[in-house]
Amino acid sequence: MRSISVFGATGSIGESTLALLTPGQVRVVALTGGRQVGRLAEQARRFGAEVAVTAHPEALDDLRAALAGSGVQAAAGPQALIEAADRPADWVMSAIVGAAGLAPGLRALRHGTTLALANKESLVTAGPLLLATAAAHGATVLPVDSEHSAVFQALAGEDRAGVERVIITASGGPFRDWPLERIARATPEQAVAHPNWSMGQRISIDSASMFNKALELIETREFFGFAPEMIETVVHPQSIVHALVGFRDGGIMAHLGPADMRHAIGYALHWPDRGHVPVERLDLTRLARLTFEAPDPVRFPALRLAREVMATRGLSGAAFNAAKEVALDAFLDRRIGFLDMAAVVEQVLDRLSGELRLRIAAATLEEVTAADHLARQRADEAVSARQAKR
Ligand code: NDP
Repeated sequence: MRSISVFGATGSIGESTLALLTPGQVRVVALTGGRQVGRLAEQARRFGAEVAVTAHPEALDDLRAALAGSGVQAAAGPQALIEAADRPADWVMSAIVGAAGLAPGLRALRHGTTLALANKESLVTAGPLLLATAAAHGATVLPVDSEHSAVFQALAGEDRAGVERVIITASGGPFRDWPLERIARATPEQAVAHPNWSMGQRISIDSASMFNKALELIETREFFGFAPEMIETVVHPQSIVHALVGFRDGGIMAHLGPADMRHAIGYALHWPDRGHVPVERLDLTRLARLTFEAPDPVRFPALRLAREVMATRGLSGAAFNAAKEVALDAFLDRRIGFLDMAAVVEQVLDRLSGELRLRIAAATLEEVTAADHLARQRADEAVSARQAKR
C-alpha cells in the first residue's frame, strides 16, 4: 500500500489532496496543520494517520485531547514537523504556506521520496538547494502549482533544447481592471475575493497584487532552468489555459483545464501515469472566449521585482519572499496600504543588495534562514517607516 504524508493538510491544497484519497486504500503517515487543530484531528482519525502535528506548541494539549483514544500520535512545533518529514513516505505533499514549508520538504527529500510541491516558496527561496538535495538522494520533485504542472505536462517527452519560450498565465485577480488610485485604497476583504480560484487567504491576496505571479515566474526559472528572457506571463482572465510552451518550430503546446487544483494534485499523485481525477470536464462549446492581454507592470510592480530576482538569483529569492510575507501581514493588519506591499519589498531588496551578497547561492538551509531573517527585519523597519508617514 502506498504511504503518503500531507504537510499543510488543513489548508486549501491539503484538503483538496485528502479529497483525492480514500481511507484504507493508502497508508497515511503524517498529517500536519497549524491553528485548525480540530480539523487536523478529524482528518487524522478519518485516515488513521500515524502522527498528527500542529506547528504551534501551545496547541499540543488541544490536539492530544482531540485525538484521545484514536491511536494517532500527537506532536507540535517546528522540530516535530521535521521529525514527521523523517518518517519515510512514498509520496509527500508540501502544502504549508510560506517559507515555513521549506524545511520539512527538504528533509523529506533526504529520504528519497516523491515530493509534490505546492509550496512555491521552497523554489523561490532555495530552488538550487532543493533540487540538489533531491538529486543527491534520488528523490523526485513534482510541481503542483497549476501553471508549473501545466508546463511540466507540456514538456513531457519533449527535448528541452527545442523550447523557445514558456508562458504562464495570470487571471489578473480582482483588481485587473481597477485604476491605480482605486488599487491603492483596496482593502484585505476586496483583495481576498479571487474571481476564479478558491484558495487560501494569503495566496488570494498575492494573486490580487500579482506577487503570486511574481513568485511563479521565479519558480519557473528555478524549477525548469530556462533563462529569464524565455519566461513570459500573460493575463488570461478565464483561467482555462494554465501555461503554454513555445518551440523552435513555432508550435505552441497549451495546457487547458478547469480552475480546480485537484487536477494538478491528481496529476502529481498518479504520475507518471494518468489516473482518473474527479474534476469538472471542460465543455469547449460553452467557453465563449479565451482572451489574453499583456500584464501592466505599473499597476502590478511585483512583476518587475520578480525580473530583478530572476536575474540576481542567489539569496535574493529568500529576501524577496520574506519581505513579501512581512508586507502581506502588515497589509492584513491594515498597517500599510495595498501598493505599499511592493514598495516595501523593493526597499528591502535595494537595502540588502548593499548589506548581503544577494548573488551568493545558498548551500544550506541555515544560509537561507539567515537571509530570510535579515529581510524580515528590514521589512519590519520599512513597514514602520511607512506607517509613521500615513
Ligand atoms: P492555506 O493557508 O489554505 O493552508 C496552509 C496550510 O499550512 C494549513 O494547513 C495551515 O494550517 C498550515 N500552516 C500555516 N502556517 C504554518 C506554519 N508557520 N508552519 C506550518 N504549517 C503552517 O494555504 P494554501 O493551501 O492556499 O497554500 C499552500 C501552499 O500551496 C502555498 O505555498 C501556496 O502558495 C501554494 N499553492 C496554493 C494554491 C491554491 O489553490 N490554494 C495553488 C498553487 C499553489 P492551519 O490552517 O491549520 O493554520
